[in-house]
Amino acid sequence: MNNTIKYSVDADGIALLVIDLPDKSMNVLTPELTSDMTACVEKMVADENVKGAVLTSGKSAFIAGADIKDMVTAYDRGITAEEGYEFSQGLTRFLRELETCGKPVAVAINGLALGGGLEVCLACHYRILSDDPRAVLGLPEVTIGLLPGAGGTQRLPRLIGTADALPMILQGKSIKPAKALELGVVHEIAPAAELVGRAKAWLLENGDPVAPWDKKGFKVPGGAGAMTPRNMQTFMMGTSLLAKTTQHNYPAPIAAISAVYEGCITPIDTGLDIESQYFGQLLSGVVARNMMRSLFVNKGAADKLVRRPAGIEKSRISKLGILGAGMMGAGVAYVSAKAGIQVVLLDTGIEAAERGKAYSEGLLNRAVQRGYSTEEKAKGLLDMIHPTTDYNDLEGCDLVIEAVFESREIKADVTAKTEAVIPENAIFASNTSTLPITGLAEASKRPESFIGLHFFSPVDKMPLVELIVGEKSSDEAIARGLDYIKQIRKTPIVVNDSPGFYTSRCFSTSTNEGMTMLAEGINPALIENGAKMAGLPVGPLAVMDEVTLDLGYKITMQAAADQGDDYTFDSGFPVIRKFVEDLDRKGKRFGKGFYEYPEGEKKYLWPGLAGHYPLAEEQPPVEEVKNRLLYRQALETARCLEEGVLNHPADADIGSIFGWGFPPWTGGTLSFIDTVGIGHFVEECDRMAKAYGPRFAVSDWLRQRAAEGKGFH
Ligand code: NAD
Repeated sequence: MNNTIKYSVDADGIALLVIDLPDKSMNVLTPELTSDMTACVEKMVADENVKGAVLTSGKSAFIAGADIKDMVTAYDRGITAEEGYEFSQGLTRFLRELETCGKPVAVAINGLALGGGLEVCLACHYRILSDDPRAVLGLPEVTIGLLPGAGGTQRLPRLIGTADALPMILQGKSIKPAKALELGVVHEIAPAAELVGRAKAWLLENGDPVAPWDKKGFKVPGGAGAMTPRNMQTFMMGTSLLAKTTQHNYPAPIAAISAVYEGCITPIDTGLDIESQYFGQLLSGVVARNMMRSLFVNKGAADKLVRRPAGIEKSRISKLGILGAGMMGAGVAYVSAKAGIQVVLLDTGIEAAERGKAYSEGLLNRAVQRGYSTEEKAKGLLDMIHPTTDYNDLEGCDLVIEAVFESREIKADVTAKTEAVIPENAIFASNTSTLPITGLAEASKRPESFIGLHFFSPVDKMPLVELIVGEKSSDEAIARGLDYIKQIRKTPIVVNDSPGFYTSRCFSTSTNEGMTMLAEGINPALIENGAKMAGLPVGPLAVMDEVTLDLGYKITMQAAADQGDDYTFDSGFPVIRKFVEDLDRKGKRFGKGFYEYPEGEKKYLWPGLAGHYPLAEEQPPVEEVKNRLLYRQALETARCLEEGVLNHPADADIGSIFGWGFPPWTGGTLSFIDTVGIGHFVEECDRMAKAYGPRFAVSDWLRQRAAEGKGFH
């Protein structure tokens, strides 16, 4: 029985194979599809009346990639590298049979073809791609810790040369039809409706059933191996660049470049074998499990609103109010207008409100200049943002997001003024970064409609929004908040109310650890480089300069004033205090902080640091610096789960990667604990608590979990 492919033969003897998975909006490469394709190819080869075949899809896209259901569980099932090799060989062998079946096969790529989808195309003898810009081609496997394991690392370089193939394989970026034609990934582009007809025409007129690399005298375009001038540069620069960008935390790009290098100097069958061996190593490793699970499976579920309370009708925001047109308000206005939402952008003065709108104008001008948008589209988007100072303009808003100064009084004042105007059933959300939502909701007459929507800066680039549930927030408010996050194409996590919520609380532990190490006399360059070697995007001291020491100072002083004698200052706070009160080095915005910012030149660590924090005689190994930063954040995350600030380990992982750049190779903060092993994690924290202080102390809850060997996933 064939469920996934419609097979027919026309009067000219051309078989048409239409891939159309039942009950799915996209075709994905499942074991069933592979087995159906095998059966269809056998049938077409055996049928004497059939001259050749056209492969296409019955959906608007061709094939979105491989189904990773089996792959994501591979590590936890304990598969070996050999079993991973066999897994890869399954599809590889079939595609090689297709390629050498003796009859020509053309593929009509009627929409996007990614990963395994593109690898199927590469094994066909002729490729015609739809000219629709959405019909992108790509090999995104490295972005989830794998490599293209069905011939991608072998056929693509043999087709277009290693220098052009490597960026696609190593960066996982897709290319549009025009580029695919220019590079020679496809033979033709044509309107979608003409693809099958043209494919048939090629089969009848030409129909060469032998792939270029199976022809005598074949040479990889531009040469194989490292000894041609261009390849020498590609491989030498490529490997050192990879070492720099991955810091050896990500095995996939290194494995992929090795597969290309070693595979392309051998015949194709050996090359395919080499590729599968590298694939097997990756699939049986923990990094691929971490990346597939957090970046693909769990992020995908979050994007589909897995945490949305059930039984509430879907909603859409058509008119959004934003209070405060500063850095955050302006960014939220842009992403919302981009999603087709009418935005009222309110500030105390019209100039400030206009400035907020001008932020979008700046972004759009750049997009037009770079060819990502048109003047017309940009104008249409700008017309959707209405700067104002008049609360009456908020009438009819379904959602209002407050992004005024971080002051309880001002926030209470704008909440009351807004509620006097907006509809009874509108949702009110605060973008506060530190003030608990339940407390802010006290200023509201409808605390059930009050939630936190915590955006990250810069809003147009950062993919995450942290939805904070106040004590009285209703399920409906949560559901509608999530619908809005989906509408603006961001990824949500849902957390409960608590100081700093989840992301700010855990993220700040790493900057605190960095400053504590500085105060201990650890070399600041070692701290900064250790962070980068662990996979964090920037060092903790550089981050502190970016968010400004001044802000850290103000937040701490406010919290200390609020909590009185109960307040315990963080271990790194004396450093902040010295920099703000004594040294007047408040961060990048103020022109100086831990770094110097000479105009037009690269920043560098302030040489004066050594005078205030003399280097300790004995410096720790870099591993210790890396671990202090990672363990501290992971431990705080575990506390958030214990306290109920977090409800799900998946939210913790996604929030840490997409909110503050916790290294993706770890799979996120809680996956990191699972990766090192919860028992080992607790032992290390115990050691660090003795060495560095009680901030590394493990709770009974976590210790018990470790004793039971109970990880988080
Ligand atoms: P900002 O200082 O850039 O902007 C605040 C804006 O609010 C200013 O334009 C100001 O004129 C306006 N404003 C002040 N009082 C007002 C009033 N009564 N009515 C209307 N407008 C008023 O600040 P920001 O960085 O955009 O932060 C805004 C909020 O977002 C704060 O609560 C902050 O904690 C939070 N937040 C900031 C970041 C960040 O990285 N900056 C990240 C997440 C959340």
